[in-house]
Amino acid sequence: MSGRVVLLIEDNEQNRYLTTYLLEGNGYRVVSAVDGRRGIEAAHTLVPDLILLDIQLPEMDGYEVARQIRQVPKLEGVPMIAVTSYAMVGDRERALESGCTGYIEKPINPETFITEIEQHLPAKGRGGVL
Ligand code: MN
Repeated sequence: MSGRVVLLIEDNEQNRYLTTYLLEGNGYRVVSAVDGRRGIEAAHTLVPDLILLDIQLPEMDGYEVARQIRQVPKLEGVPMIAVTSYAMVGDRERALESGCTGYIEKPINPETFITEIEQHLPAKGRGGVL
């Protein structure tokens, strides 16, 4: 069990369910937020090990959420992966410009999802408190 905390910012209930199921099955603790404002608040409180960020969110889109999270000094080093069904050219670049460290396309592939996100996490046994 890694015990790492993942903040999932996602407005779609089915996506939240599947993502949470996969992460918890692999030993992660998942905290969900259903919109950007709640997500930013939760990021401040938790300082998670990883943020999974839906781009298509109500009111404030994921790019803006990413920019605001990156302005918080204590969240500067938190890996943040955009998860989006947008398949337009330039989305990856836009996500990275907004402060995301990676990009996963929806629908997520349950067989490769954990491997994909772990590429953005430091190796286990890093010098953290957990
Ligand atoms: Mn969405």
